[in-house]
Amino acid sequence: MKKHNFSAGPCILPQSVMQKSAEAVLNFNNSNLSLLEISHRSKDFVEVMDNARSLALEHLGLQNKGYQALFLQGGASLEFLMVAYNLLEKKSAYLNTGTWSDKAIKEAKLFGEVVEVATSKSENFNFIPKNYNVPKDADYFHCTSNNTIFGTQMQSFPETEIPMVCDMSSDIFSRQLDFSKFSLIYAGAQKNMGPAGTTLVVIKEDILGKVSRSIPSMLNYKVHIDKESMFNTPAVFPVYVSMLTLEWLKDLGGISAIEKINNQKAELLYNEIDRNPLFEGFVSNKEDRSKMNATFNLRNDELKATFDDHLKQAGIAGLNGHRSVGGYRASMYNALPLESVQVLVDVMEAVEKGA
Ligand SMILES: *Cc1c(COP(=O)(O)O)cnc(C)c1O
Repeated sequence: MKKHNFSAGPCILPQSVMQKSAEAVLNFNNSNLSLLEISHRSKDFVEVMDNARSLALEHLGLQNKGYQALFLQGGASLEFLMVAYNLLEKKSAYLNTGTWSDKAIKEAKLFGEVVEVATSKSENFNFIPKNYNVPKDADYFHCTSNNTIFGTQMQSFPETEIPMVCDMSSDIFSRQLDFSKFSLIYAGAQKNMGPAGTTLVVIKEDILGKVSRSIPSMLNYKVHIDKESMFNTPAVFPVYVSMLTLEWLKDLGGISAIEKINNQKAELLYNEIDRNPLFEGFVSNKEDRSKMNATFNLRNDELKATFDDHLKQAGIAGLNGHRSVGGYRASMYNALPLESVQVLVDVMEAVEKGA
């Protein structure tokens, strides 16, 4: 039987998407060829890329608004660098809410001044800083919408005139936002969209072309836009699976429909973490809790073996916390069924009752 997969990434994908992907590896579009052995310039694959790009914009409500969607390689980690390469002329502003923001800041410093507008680092990133000022003379403001490792999530974003750039790797397509507030959004596929190997970059074209340095082709957003995300051989399989996931989401009713289910899952689990005296949440402010990654721990470490044994018996996988936080982390991405969260909650109750 398939396990209840709470892995933080790579992570669960819809079962139907997995099935169709497997079929395409053997026989793509009844061509009697594998998706893996055809030209990326073939009509069939160009359709896949076009469809994936337009579905991404459609879900975000960004069609015909001057945005382009790209499927690049190098992970979200390469975007830390590409963002600064393409946008940072003199000064940038970053909100530091976790390991990933920290890494983005490190890369940006190679290209210019970085103003850290606020940070929760001294508290091991267990809350989201508020009431900070974004300097008006910065080239852009960068933030991380969901902190996968620590389990915090931004519920609001600053109002600013300068372009807002957001790493949405672990909560893209999970909740409705006014995405037009952002000038650049990027997300590694492997948290909520597909397998590792491609990164979605959604970019408002008019923010480009403003830095004076020359940019190597592969790192230049404009080059990828001009080549319709086919400057070089794209990651055909990850792009195909991402397209299938975006179609799956559309059939389900889009972001607003999945958001309702995500809210139910998060409420169910957090209610149990708060109710059950054996457990405590990691995030200090409840309003900062992530609906994608719930971090929690046992109050009494001696129960760890028992709890872990119960998890195993129930077929629950991927619940270990990140090494920098410890404890447990339940990642509840779009494809995780509500039922899996119920199984986890049942285990938590059973351990409390000493069952
Ligand atoms: C996983 C993750 C990354 C890193 O993604 P890679 O594709 O491994 O480079 C960056 N930011 C966030 C928020 C993440 O969750």
